[in-house]
Amino acid sequence: MPLPRVAWIGLGIMGAPMAENLLKAGYAVTGYTLEAHGLDRLAAAGGTPARSVREAVAHAGVVVTMLPADAEVAAVAHGDDGVLAHAAPGTLLIDMSSVTPRTAVALAEAARPRGVRVLDAPVSGGEAGAVEGTLSVMVGGGRADFDEARPLLGALGTTVVHCGPHGAGQTVKAANQLIVAANLQACAEAVVFLEKSGVDLTAALDVLSGGLAASAVLTRKRHNFLAREFTPGFRIDLHHKDMGIVTDAARRAGAVLPLGALVATLVAAARAQGDGGLDHSALLRGVERLSGTPGAAS
Ligand code: NAD
Repeated sequence: MPLPRVAWIGLGIMGAPMAENLLKAGYAVTGYTLEAHGLDRLAAAGGTPARSVREAVAHAGVVVTMLPADAEVAAVAHGDDGVLAHAAPGTLLIDMSSVTPRTAVALAEAARPRGVRVLDAPVSGGEAGAVEGTLSVMVGGGRADFDEARPLLGALGTTVVHCGPHGAGQTVKAANQLIVAANLQACAEAVVFLEKSGVDLTAALDVLSGGLAASAVLTRKRHNFLAREFTPGFRIDLHHKDMGIVTDAARRAGAVLPLGALVATLVAAARAQGDGGLDHSALLRGVERLSGTPGAAS
């Protein structure tokens, strides 16, 4: 089977390296994104930059979107220049952005009369996972469509799982973001507690990483905590968006998440204090502010 031509919409922190991994796997990729440097980067990696969504999807068998949030996904899908207006019947649209499960279901319903098949396939693993091609990909939609997309998704991630019908991938991603935020907040509180207690932080993180407190968050964000280095990565603005998704989806499901509600408030507080553009490991700054830690960033 020849590989399908891919249109990639959204070449940001995640989309750019993911599209590059498809190019390395032999896919022909035409891309569109808002920033000129994103288009230049795609061209330098061997892809074809397009001037619009319409131009990008014109000859594609698969369209992948990797956009910030629900509003951008809706605009790119439903606009006059958008995917649904210009993709050929039979096209497979894979939305890898993190959006609400409701948006995933609505997109699949809007696409059906046009003969466009849809999968929601959000990811976890951060920028490093995107670069390394080691993402976790949580997929919602039809089983046959998942089977068809499996080789392409396998070029982007090492854990690729069909979670259920449309929206199920986004529901699992929302749960993922709940766990990550709570874990980050706990790690940040531990860091401030350890430092205020006069314990050597490097030694403490070494031993914590070998026991039950070990986590991917602690491993991946260790440097950020030690060096107070908060270049994103994953922006607090985006995690705030994701906590809104968890809160909304949990209310609809009748699930009560007390810790989730508290962490959502702490993420919102970090944003309100001007840290929205920083990596989510900057939740540490919020704990420092609460603890009046000398030298904590204001
Ligand atoms: P980003 O802001 O770096 O990139 C988004 C890209 O979308 C930008 O390059 C922008 O040009 C493009 N875009 C926006 N509107 C567009 C439009 N109308 N047409 C074409 N392109 C448009 O965001 P990111 O960090 O790459 O995140 C993308 C998605 O992946 C988000 O939903 C995020 O929650 C999720 N995610 C991010 C990470 C991470 O670590 N950064 C990890 C997992 C999941």
